Amino acid sequence: MIFETLDIYGHEQVVFCHNKDAGLKAIIAIHNTVLGPALGGTRMWPYKSEAEALNDVLRLSRGMTYKNAVAGLNIGGGKAVIIGNPATDKSEALFRAFGQFVESLGGRYITAEDVGIDVNDMEYVYRETEYVTGVHQVHGGSGDPSPFTAYGSLQGLMATLNRKFGDEDVGKYSYAVQGLGHVGMEYVKLLKERGAKIFVTDINQALVDRAVTEYGAEAVGLDEIYDVPADVYSPCALGGTVNEQTLPRFKFKVICGSANNQLANNEIGDEVVKRGILYAPDYAVNAGGVMNVALELDGYNRERAMRMMRTIYHNLSRIYEISDRDGIPTYRAADRLAEERIEKIGKLKLPLGRGRTRFQGRIRGN
Ligand code: NAD
Repeated sequence: MIFETLDIYGHEQVVFCHNKDAGLKAIIAIHNTVLGPALGGTRMWPYKSEAEALNDVLRLSRGMTYKNAVAGLNIGGGKAVIIGNPATDKSEALFRAFGQFVESLGGRYITAEDVGIDVNDMEYVYRETEYVTGVHQVHGGSGDPSPFTAYGSLQGLMATLNRKFGDEDVGKYSYAVQGLGHVGMEYVKLLKERGAKIFVTDINQALVDRAVTEYGAEAVGLDEIYDVPADVYSPCALGGTVNEQTLPRFKFKVICGSANNQLANNEIGDEVVKRGILYAPDYAVNAGGVMNVALELDGYNRERAMRMMRTIYHNLSRIYEISDRDGIPTYRAADRLAEERIEKIGKLKLPLGRGRTRFQGRIRGN
């Protein structure tokens, strides 16, 4: 049953990690290491069943393969989940036990923070293994990735405007930004600096007030955001907001934002095309975060990070070319770009983890 699922998804390795004394139940999924060691965060979540945890880690690790490939990184896809409640079940022993399992994989999997895990938890993991990114800046970590994600999203937006309108004058267009958290607020700031008209919403009124006073945005209600007469819809909060209920209300011509899994399903992705709306594939747009942590492997440098964010423009342009070339929706073209890159680079048979990395000489070949 499990191997059938692995066949379908194409995973290389799935590791069940158990340490009774530390209360650790975790699963590490390595989806694909053709491009390099599998990088992806660890999520801590009170899964209702082991099957639910397994399903999540398989789905998320596969997603990382595609995201890292489209981002142009020499990095494969992986992910880990720890079954537990982040509010009550965290301990030093738990994270150190988890770190020992990460270490045991010899660098085939490199972890980072994800939902339910913060930089302090990663400090414990780091005591047991070097194969961690997103650690404190004192250890060569890259710090909060959100400003990079926002800047990268802006690059993706410019490529998308160019494709849709034939120019990339951000300030000429209007935006509906949903979610003013770490990424959303920075994104609003970047839009404002370019003179754009911005509508905003958030469940947190203080953030809305800040966007209004600091960036001159116009506040709209949580549900009203789907109706505003803006050119671009920028989801920067939750996934699944482009769905059967919301899409018929859209007057937007472009969807481009930082949230993960914006399309509720593939059928909606097809419907978006029929309505003449250009969808900028989310995982290509929001790759700034993973680019930033991936740079830690080489020795982190802010200049290089900013330069790398600008490559998101070209990644999006390439996706639109493939969409034209093959006559497929952009969400499919992004997957195709990833698959083509993995296939081509895979044929070169590069040794895993070659070159200068923080783990120099320690990452074993696959
Ligand atoms: P965040 O938690 O800091 O911000 C999310 C914001 O959305 C919060 O202010 C929250 O109040 C608001 N929100 C929640 N539900 C809402 C709703 N129904 N309507 C309006 N607002 C709502 O998260 P973030 O780090 O800014 O990330 C935003 C999105 O981008 C997430 O989907 C995340 O997965 C994705 N993302 C973030 C990064 C990163 O570097 N932080 C990287 C890649 C992808």
